[in-house]
Amino acid sequence: MTKYFNNPHDILEATSLVKRFTEYVKIHTTSDEHSESSPSTERQFDLARKLVRELHELGLSDAQVDEHCYVTATLPENTKGRATVGLIAHLDTSPAAPGEGVTPLFHEKYDGSTIRLKDNVSISPEDTPDLTACMGDTIITSDGTTLLGADDKAGIAEIISVLEYFKDHPDLPHPKIRVAFTPDEETGRGTAKFPMETFGADVAFTVDGTFDGEINVETFNADSAYVTITGVSTHPGTAKGKLVNALRYMSKLIERLPAEKSPECTEGREGFIHPIEVNGDASKCKCHLILRDFEERPLAEFGRIVREIAEGLQKEEPRLKIDVEIKRRYSNMIQFLRKKPEITNRLSEAVRLAGVEPIIKPIRGGTDGANLTKMGLPCPNIFSGGMNYHGPTECVSTRSMGLVVCVLLNLLTLYANSQQG
Ligand SMILES: [Zn+2]
Repeated sequence: MTKYFNNPHDILEATSLVKRFTEYVKIHTTSDEHSESSPSTERQFDLARKLVRELHELGLSDAQVDEHCYVTATLPENTKGRATVGLIAHLDTSPAAPGEGVTPLFHEKYDGSTIRLKDNVSISPEDTPDLTACMGDTIITSDGTTLLGADDKAGIAEIISVLEYFKDHPDLPHPKIRVAFTPDEETGRGTAKFPMETFGADVAFTVDGTFDGEINVETFNADSAYVTITGVSTHPGTAKGKLVNALRYMSKLIERLPAEKSPECTEGREGFIHPIEVNGDASKCKCHLILRDFEERPLAEFGRIVREIAEGLQKEEPRLKIDVEIKRRYSNMIQFLRKKPEITNRLSEAVRLAGVEPIIKPIRGGTDGANLTKMGLPCPNIFSGGMNYHGPTECVSTRSMGLVVCVLLNLLTLYANSQQG
């Protein structure tokens, strides 16, 4: 009879999941969105090299890290002729909060009260409703001065624990597993140098989501719009009737964007236009806007709105030079995953077998998996057990982490037992 996993506590006892996790979060791996290099920060190699050593110890003899900080390794199949399954998590943590000197704190037998940390940081079930599902759990937090780094070191520790479990239980059938730990997910460039040709998986899963049971097969479609306005510069003392100030016209452009289509006014399946950065001076400036929607048609409409506002300004002041450039960032992976419904079905089944009802949520953002899916490797996202990512209130339940390992083991067992790969 096939064995499936639904007891996170068994996993916590059988593997060094929590120990590994607490070691990983102490390694400073913050990425840098302003860096042009790949990886964006050298420090990500510190964790990458440690993981290569651990993968070797677990018997994955081809484990390596490449020049761009992508760690890859293979666990050969112990059953014949099935799909190769990829498991992916990211090494870096968000630059949005400090990631150096992380001190993980353990709050055992959580009783539903507010967790108080340094710097007046507190985590309450009111602000973090998922905590109400964690009664009796051990909650890990930072000390309040840094983020924790569960995003995505929980994902890494969970994948390593799966490999550890298979090593200790060689009779458990599993398909060929390819592992990748990637840099710079938080800068949006996590797949820029992904070794797609050598990775060779048929399907992959990022373990980079949030809480119990959540799986993601849908992301935004994402475009970036760059508006460059060039004015006419003269000495301000003799500028009357001559000077055309690019900054003034950029502020008009931003003012004319539809306010109800901003991220602060939208939720659920609604898309938005969001100016995120302006650079330049009175003679020439450039604005970066991000355009997001789950559907292609409204996204194209957002691009048209930006162009139309720019054209309006151009008509008002013919001496301006305005350029609008729109670039694709990533695409909603559902359009690719719909063609292979068995992937989502199998993932949902793996969650159900672990004893929780799958929650299929569209992500109001992107994942590395969205890019990989577009590149030809279908790649949904699985929860990793954490809450409140990218800030000092970030936390994780060890039970939820054990549950993720259960889901991954079930998923790989389903692949091992499937006839059609
Ligand atoms: Zn992440």
